[in-house]
Amino acid sequence: MNRINVTKATMPTFEEYTEEIKDLFESHWITNHGKKTITLKKQLIEYMQVPELALFTNGHLALELSLQALNLKKEGEVITTPFTFASTTHAITRNHLTPVFCDINEDNYTIDVDKIEDLITDKTVAILPVHVYGNICDVERIEEIAQKYDLKVVYDAAHAFGETYKGRGVGIFGDISMFSFHATKVFNTIEGGAVCFHDPEIGGILKRLKNFGIRDEERVDWVGSNAKMNEFQAAMGICNLKSIDSSIKSRKKIVELYNRAFFGIKGLKLNVTSEDVVSNYSYYPVVIDEKACGVTRNQLIKELQKHNIFPRKYFYPLINELDCYRNSIKEETPVALNISKRVLTLPLYSELKEEEVSKIVNVILDYLDSQEK
Ligand SMILES: *Cc1c(COP(=O)(O)O)cnc(C)c1O
Repeated sequence: MNRINVTKATMPTFEEYTEEIKDLFESHWITNHGKKTITLKKQLIEYMQVPELALFTNGHLALELSLQALNLKKEGEVITTPFTFASTTHAITRNHLTPVFCDINEDNYTIDVDKIEDLITDKTVAILPVHVYGNICDVERIEEIAQKYDLKVVYDAAHAFGETYKGRGVGIFGDISMFSFHATKVFNTIEGGAVCFHDPEIGGILKRLKNFGIRDEERVDWVGSNAKMNEFQAAMGICNLKSIDSSIKSRKKIVELYNRAFFGIKGLKLNVTSEDVVSNYSYYPVVIDEKACGVTRNQLIKELQKHNIFPRKYFYPLINELDCYRNSIKEETPVALNISKRVLTLPLYSELKEEEVSKIVNVILDYLDSQEK
């Protein structure tokens, strides 16, 4: 029986990739701002409809260095959400800033904009919201709040590659938006990431920060890191970008199959995409209400695993519950806690076959039927 995982990395054919990397074996220019990264950057600026973009070796360092590039007040507080991947909070903490957790809203699991202002103190320097599952935050309200209190905004847009909001590329919101190109994401460069921004000055700073803070051969201005994307990563990106539209289309089809099958089933809350967003269909989260369907999230996972189907609990545990944060975080986030205990993300990737989707659907519906009181 084939194992069905929550995701599967999109790859070009072997021939397409080897063709793309052929000239690297002639030039021996395999990292440090070579031809492939220059090409990929150009293509992404166009595809993502953003003014400026910088490539990184992974999304996490892109986020960490973005916060460093903004030169925020030392020991400042950054308002963020705990319903995310550890990377978001780590990027704050590793910059010697303090994460302050705001709860999420129940509709699309992004930051609850009505709760942000209560958390603002004279130490607050920035807001770091997450477009979780590719659901776009209330960017207008966040912009208003940021202006009112003179705060920077950095979006963790790791899940939002290629999406538009009201017809505009989502990377244009806030001061900086970070996208992840990890193997598990909608678009991958094996490992990789990018940040989008408006201010060309930020581009200059990031360019140095991702290369040890080096200004020129004899001057090093800042304590930077090493976070450059290499040429083999960029070549993978160039190949994967060619098929991204058809890949997102396949994902859309699968999401529609799931939606049709689960529509109206008691106890399953499905993800709703806003009409303002052109989605990339990156994840298929389902929130399970035990009271309504007689089944817990964990029971359903066990049942799926019996059939060799491996969904994931994105995002559980909540970041405020992790060992490295549990003792230092004081804010309570009851909505996020409740969702994290009940959410399940089902397998979703472009190569997932229709019969595999049917199998997943049937296992779930049969199990719910058998447990009905
Ligand atoms: C994947 C992910 C990251 C980190 O990106 P990497 O490319 O894996 O370093 C950050 N935030 C969120 C929400 C993610 O899902």
